[in-house]
Amino acid sequence: MTTHQGSCQCGSVAYEVETELDGVIECNCSHCYRKGLALAFVSPDAFRQTAGEGALSEHTFNTHKITHLFCKTCGVQAFARGVAPNGQPMVAVNVRTLTDIEPWSWTAQHVDGRSF
Ligand SMILES: [Zn+2]
Repeated sequence: MTTHQGSCQCGSVAYEVETELDGVIECNCSHCYRKGLALAFVSPDAFRQTAGEGALSEHTFNTHKITHLFCKTCGVQAFARGVAPNGQPMVAVNVRTLTDIEPWSWTAQHVDGRSF
């Protein structure tokens, strides 16, 4: 697995994640589409927040199974924590906040979250 570094825009929130960036999705639900999120899902074992534990604010909606976490200062959502459909805890990393890859070096599948 490759370890990637990421952060919010202002740098208050930083993290490391192990992912090969396969299975990235973009979703058309009321939340993801507005924010332009491109998400890679990993188990909590593969994710470490390295800065900014107190710098996060959170937002939940609908079934409240996913806690969307964003930087109180710059508003950027680097990741969310939640429960996958199979009941396992997961972290959804916004690949647009990875700092060690080229923009658009990943590809995303479109997911029809609006219809769920
Ligand atoms: Zn920030």
